[in-house]
Amino acid sequence: MPAFRTIFNASLVILTCYSAASVLAYAGVTGMHAALTAQWQGVAAIGGAAIVYFVVGALVALPGLTITQPSVKEFFGGWADNLLEIATLCLGMLTALALATLPALALIVVPPMLLLHRGVLAKQLEIAATTDDKTGLFNTTAWRHIATQELARAQRHAQASFGILMIDLDHFKQVNDTHGHLAGDQVLKGVATAISNAVRVYDSVGRFGGEEFVVLLPDIPETTVLAVAERVRESVADLAVTVLSDDDTAVINNLSVSIGVATYPHAGTGVDRLLQAADKAMYSAKTAGRNQVVSVTATA
Ligand code: GH3
Ligand code: MG
Ligand code: MG
Repeated sequence: MPAFRTIFNASLVILTCYSAASVLAYAGVTGMHAALTAQWQGVAAIGGAAIVYFVVGALVALPGLTITQPSVKEFFGGWADNLLEIATLCLGMLTALALATLPALALIVVPPMLLLHRGVLAKQLEIAATTDDKTGLFNTTAWRHIATQELARAQRHAQASFGILMIDLDHFKQVNDTHGHLAGDQVLKGVATAISNAVRVYDSVGRFGGEEFVVLLPDIPETTVLAVAERVRESVADLAVTVLSDDDTAVINNLSVSIGVATYPHAGTGVDRLLQAADKAMYSAKTAGRNQVVSVTATA
C-alpha cells in the first residue's frame, strides 16, 4: 500500500474523531457515561457529533476527488460498502456503551469485529478479482458474469432488449511505437475513463484484451444503442491524454476507436453469440476505414 494512503487514512481518523469529540465537549458531554446520564441532551450531542464526523470526513475526502476522479457511484459506494460502514459504527457504539457501563463486557465485541474484518477482506478480494488492474474497469470474467445476468433478466421479459459495444482502439501500436508502452498504458486508462463517462452509471464497461473494450448497455432500445456508441466514439476522438515520453511530456490527441454494435435479441440470443456479432461488426468498421460505428444488420 502506498505511504500516502496510510497518512491520509490516519489524518482522516484523527481529524474526524477530534472534531466529533469537540462537539461533545462543547455540549458538556465528556464521555459515553456522561452522555447516558444526560438523557436526551446526551443523545442530541451524540447525534451532532455523528453529523460533524460525517461532514468533516467528506470535506477531508473532497480534495482526493480531483486525483482519482471517481464516478458518483464509486464516491458514495454501493449498499454493501455502506452497510459495512454502518456495522462498524454500531460496533463502536456498543463498545463505547460497554466501556461506560460494564467494561469487561467490551470483550464480546471482539468476535463480531473479527468477522467484520473478514468481511472487509472478502470485499477487497472480490474487487481485486473482478477489476482490470490497468484501467480499473471490469475484467473479462466479471463483465461476462454481469452480461449473463442481464441476458437472464432480458429473457424473462418479452419486450426487453440490451446492447453490446465492442470497441477497439485504432492504430494503437503506433502509440506504443512512438511514445513507449508506459505512455500506451496511460492512454488505455484515459480511453477507459472517456468510455465510462460517455455511458450511463448502470452500464458496465470492461477491458476485454489489450486495447479492446466492451460495454454492456442494459434495458435500452436498439436505436438508442447506436446513439450511445456514437457518443463513445466522439468522446474518444475528443480525448487528449498527457503522457510521459522520453523524459518529456507529450499530448496524444489523435485517438480513435472502431465500434461494433450488437443488440439482443436481434443480433443473437446468447452472450457469446452477441459478442461474436459485435466483434464481426467491429472488424467491418476497421475495414470501412476505422473511427466509426457499425451495427449488426443480419439476424444471427
Ligand atoms: P488496428 O487499428 O487494426 O486495431 O491497429 P492496432 O495497432 O490497434 O492493432 P494491433 O492489434 O495490431 O495492435 C494492438 C496493440 O496493442 C499491440 C500491443 O502492443 C498493444 N497493447 C496490447 N495490450 C497493451 C497494454 O496493456 N499496454 C500497452 N501499452 N499496449 C498494449
Ligand atoms: Mg487496435
Ligand atoms: Mg485489438
